[in-house]
Amino acid sequence: MAMEPNTKAIAVPNGPALGKKVVPGMTKTPQPIVQPKEIAQAAKGDAMRLMVSSPGCAMSTCMRLLLPVERIAVAAALLDHIERLVGSLVDVVDTLVAACHSLGVKIVTEAEVASIEPGFTVTLTDGREWECARLIVATGGLSYPTTGSTGDGLRWAEALGHRIVPTFPSLTALVPRGYKLTEDKDLHIDRSTPLSELGQSLCGVQLKNIQLSLSIEGTETDSEFGDIDFTDGGLEGPVGFQLSRKAVKALVNGSRVCFTLDLKPGVSLTDLTVRVKELWAEIEKDPRSRRVREKERCRILLGKLMPWDLIPGFTATHPEIITLERRGRADTKVWVNLVSIAKALKAWQFEIAGYVGYERAVVTAGGVSTDDFVAKTMESRIVPGLYLCGEVLDIDADTGGYNLQLAFATGALAGLNAAKSLPSVD
Ligand SMILES: Cc1cc2nc3c(=O)[nH]c(=O)nc-3n(C[C@H](O)[C@H](O)[C@H](O)COP(=O)(O)OP(=O)(O)OC[C@H]3O[C@@H](n4cnc5c(N)ncnc54)[C@H](O)[C@@H]3O)c2cc1C
Repeated sequence: MAMEPNTKAIAVPNGPALGKKVVPGMTKTPQPIVQPKEIAQAAKGDAMRLMVSSPGCAMSTCMRLLLPVERIAVAAALLDHIERLVGSLVDVVDTLVAACHSLGVKIVTEAEVASIEPGFTVTLTDGREWECARLIVATGGLSYPTTGSTGDGLRWAEALGHRIVPTFPSLTALVPRGYKLTEDKDLHIDRSTPLSELGQSLCGVQLKNIQLSLSIEGTETDSEFGDIDFTDGGLEGPVGFQLSRKAVKALVNGSRVCFTLDLKPGVSLTDLTVRVKELWAEIEKDPRSRRVREKERCRILLGKLMPWDLIPGFTATHPEIITLERRGRADTKVWVNLVSIAKALKAWQFEIAGYVGYERAVVTAGGVSTDDFVAKTMESRIVPGLYLCGEVLDIDADTGGYNLQLAFATGALAGLNAAKSLPSVD
């Protein structure tokens, strides 16, 4: 069917509403990229005959192209101050959706696109068909398939002759060896795999202001300062995510991947060793410690150096911090190795056994090759009139709002240029 005369664009999400991933998923905001004057000028007088298929990109496309300048400013302000609107992200989506409606964008929900043919014919799984002169595919990657992104756009683009850069999950949990009860050769470790005793002791621990370094095949490649979380998935949190892209890529390529956790990045090993010895001396001097066994004293010492809930995992992975010396049949002397404790605090080693896959990865790395698209317009070099934007492309970024930024920026470019390329119709 052709588009109704007063419809300027159609957004075809396969879910019940727009903004499914944006609202529950958005924890960091995109940097504002709106330049209202420029967009208003470009959009002036343009008639739209295009289809779009994504909440993030669709909204950005429609918003950037079709909104009058004052509405763009409002939307930009909303995005800009989104942190203060936590809890009202729905309002942001509603605002954008309402703006799309008011500008003649028809939103057809629960509409799963089955195939696209050059020309363009868009066929839904229920048999409905649309024809359009320009087509923008914004179907996302493979991450969080429950939000509707299942890689359809990748398949369509490949079938139309575009190259696909191999995909892998990024910004995802990394699973330390021994963290889960079962480990096989598969690098993709399902989040629901039960935790081992070690995993249980670490799960729930959040560490702030640590340094995490990534080694690939024994060579340190990256190091990040910040926070990590141990979860039922494995090692996560901003710093874990930040390093996960390189780690997953290396694992997929068959390399050995390790992390070194420095719990005291602000102190040198020498100074830390002195400090550990001082603390130990204080504990030994304390009259309350007299009747306390060596192992318990060690726990008191560790409690002064790390969060209490980290101690079981730390001691389980560092047996060298305590030495047992057998002196007689019934006499065993326990030695607490203070230098070993300091060393372990500065360099806690984790070998990585695998990672949580697309089902809970924040973003998909890889995708449709950007070489096959004109960077300034997002138009395909292979199929004129076809535009791709967002995560379906081989573009991904660090945490910090940059993935949404990419979706919005490329969505705006695709929309602007698809509209510009059409003859003006009033
Ligand atoms: C839990 C989570 C947290 C995140 N946090 C952040 C963050 O803090 N900051 C940040 O920058 N990024 C974050 N992201 C990433 C960001 O949400 C995505 O990169 C961005 O939404 C990609 O936008 P997109 O429009 O390309 O694709 P998507 O937002 O994935 O949209 C694609 C849409 O296309 C639709 N679709 C797919 N196939 C079809 C089909 N066959 N027919 C019809 N419709 C179809 C789907 O319904 C899907 O909703 C997060 C992602 C997740 C999952």
